[in-house]
Amino acid sequence: MADEARSPSISLGGLSFPTPLFLPVFEPGNPYLRLDEMQEDFGVRAVMVNAYFLYRQRELRRLLPERGIKDYLGFDGLVVTDSGAFQAFRRRLYLSNKRIIRFQEDIGADVISPLDVVTPPGDDIATAEGKLRVTLKRIEEGLALVERSILIGVQQGGRFLELRKRALERLAELGASYVALGGLVPFFTRNHHLSFVAHAATQARRVLPQQVPIHLYGAGDPLELPFYVARGCDVFDSSSFLHYAERGFYMTPYGALPAADSADVVASYACPCPYCEEHGEGVLRDTGLLCRHNLWTVMATVERVRALLGEGALLEHLDGVVRVHQEWFPGSLLGTSWRADERQE
Ligand SMILES: [Zn+2]
Repeated sequence: MADEARSPSISLGGLSFPTPLFLPVFEPGNPYLRLDEMQEDFGVRAVMVNAYFLYRQRELRRLLPERGIKDYLGFDGLVVTDSGAFQAFRRRLYLSNKRIIRFQEDIGADVISPLDVVTPPGDDIATAEGKLRVTLKRIEEGLALVERSILIGVQQGGRFLELRKRALERLAELGASYVALGGLVPFFTRNHHLSFVAHAATQARRVLPQQVPIHLYGAGDPLELPFYVARGCDVFDSSSFLHYAERGFYMTPYGALPAADSADVVASYACPCPYCEEHGEGVLRDTGLLCRHNLWTVMATVERVRALLGEGALLEHLDGVVRVHQEWFPGSLLGTSWRADERQE
């Protein structure tokens, strides 16, 4: 179960960051939120950027190694980059592991990703094992290559916990100093069935050395993050604050509500963020304000969880979250999947 004695911070790129740490995914050209606003208004000190989107623009590919990504973004915090593995999963990319690792290091990213082979839950065990082998080989190749950046040891293994365990053991052997759990996004279900992700995280925390941070790729629902922290995850990245807003969803620590027909619940929740305080229900009708409210909610949730971990009060807090959540969403599996999982531990 929750290891509440674990280190409250991680050191990355020469800076220390309190954990849990949330990395908003920054997409250059985001019409709702600039990076300098994220820094000034939300206290963001670390972001996730897709290096492949930069790499595929010929002009940037040439300029960025000289200019550096931090200068380009106007951001001096921690920059974690993604490799395009997810895009490669959707269609063939003419991109090599070595090349995208070199590019990420050359542009000055602090924590970088290999070209791992994304393994969806539908893959059978032979396919998942094959993809795992290729992923581990690429990480081994990458670890020998990097000089300044931290290369993420990405775990794959699909829906097979025994494969995921083997991946972790190999990553530990290879000396990976930062591990991400990959391919779990399809398990973040609408009904919040947390069981598999919770198991994968618990296993990772047990197998990996205590000082190795565990990053859960793609997790950004403020309802679920505290549960993943309790299971041992330290770092999260997501653009869900933006995508939820674009689809009209208002995030709360108890679940996201469709903004169009949730005015009553939203009023009773009384969000303390500056946007809701100033605009009230207006937030529900404006994508830009909704995006800000959502990011504020994620950042505030993570900060709260950090404090609760320090006080050893996280598990008690989770019981309270489940109570409110199940009242709002009676069909949700959060409460039962969370408790069923606890009994199996
Ligand atoms: Zn708000």
